[in-house]
Amino acid sequence: MNLFEKFNKGLKKTSTFLSSNIFDALSSKKIDEAVLEELESVLISSDIGIDVTNQLINKLKSSKIIGSDDYKSILKILENELTFILNKREGSLLKNDDPKPTVLIFIGVNGSGKTTTIGKLIKKIDNKKILIGACDTFRAAAVDQLREWSIKQNTDFYNGKIEQDPASVAYDTCKKSLEENYDYTIIDTAGRLSNNTNLLNQLIKIKSVINKIIEDNKIKIILVLDGTNGSNMFKQVEIFSSSMNINGIIITKIDGTAKGGALIGIAKKYEIPINYVGLGENVDDLVEFNAKEYSKSILGIVD
Ligand code: GDP
Ligand code: GDP
Ligand code: MG
Repeated sequence: MNLFEKFNKGLKKTSTFLSSNIFDALSSKKIDEAVLEELESVLISSDIGIDVTNQLINKLKSSKIIGSDDYKSILKILENELTFILNKREGSLLKNDDPKPTVLIFIGVNGSGKTTTIGKLIKKIDNKKILIGACDTFRAAAVDQLREWSIKQNTDFYNGKIEQDPASVAYDTCKKSLEENYDYTIIDTAGRLSNNTNLLNQLIKIKSVINKIIEDNKIKIILVLDGTNGSNMFKQVEIFSSSMNINGIIITKIDGTAKGGALIGIAKKYEIPINYVGLGENVDDLVEFNAKEYSKSILGIVD
């Protein structure tokens, strides 16, 4: 499958919903204020948010589209404007000149896809020494799940003892990584504790303990969001970024939702790169975020 086919397939549920509603709102009609209002409510119902909706409608108004019935060119304007918004958020997580060791800390609520995404990600990293640290130490199953991925991908794995302080496991992992010259250290964390404050405090502690031996510029905090949550993802970005600086976002399970538009709202609102999207359960379904492919696919544009 090429990139477009992957996005197209992964966004099928969203595009089926969005493009059929856009089609109903626009096709065989001359564009006037009433038609734009109809389009506006379609866009709002698609989880892209009020800001993006306003931007799209304003763009159409300023494009002298009033009076036209050229459905395809209207769709093209929408595609270009979405690409314009999303372009700013393209950004690779891994770079050729990443310092050694670069530490990636994966955070996000329980079930958002952290562990699976780490498993998919390590398959993408060629010819690098990778060490994975299992810091979700309160659930034995969480450690086992990560260990399975590391065995499958032939990657080194570090786990603490059950109920060992997650921050101390993170520290030990990074220490080993320094001593044994690893390229990447990937830290998996818990997504649920007794309450939000405890979870956030634990993540802050993990980060600051790692900071004792690894400089800030080598640490990247990656927030994993469950795409099926739609616009509820905003709240999670708010909560996590209130406690720490988020360096990248990965949105998973876009294949399982008609709410793929919410990614665009997130892209518009937060100046945080979207590194990858999860477009399926297969190991190869973690795909580098691509603004143009996302915009085309979400609108169901196939050419
Ligand atoms: P910004 O900080 O990303 O908004 O960038 P600038 O304001 O420097 O704009 C860079 C270019 O993009 C200029 O030619 C703007 O006219 C254009 N531009 C800025 N905002 C938008 C927008 O929302 N939509 C489109 N299509 N173009 C824009
Ligand atoms: P964690 O609690 O954040 O570590 O979440 P997990 O990695 O355990 O993932 C929770 C569930 O989401 C698992 O069943 C994964 O297979 C599933 N999942 C993760 N990413 C994707 C995706 O992109 N698409 C689909 N359909 N399922 C996914
Ligand atoms: Mg997990």
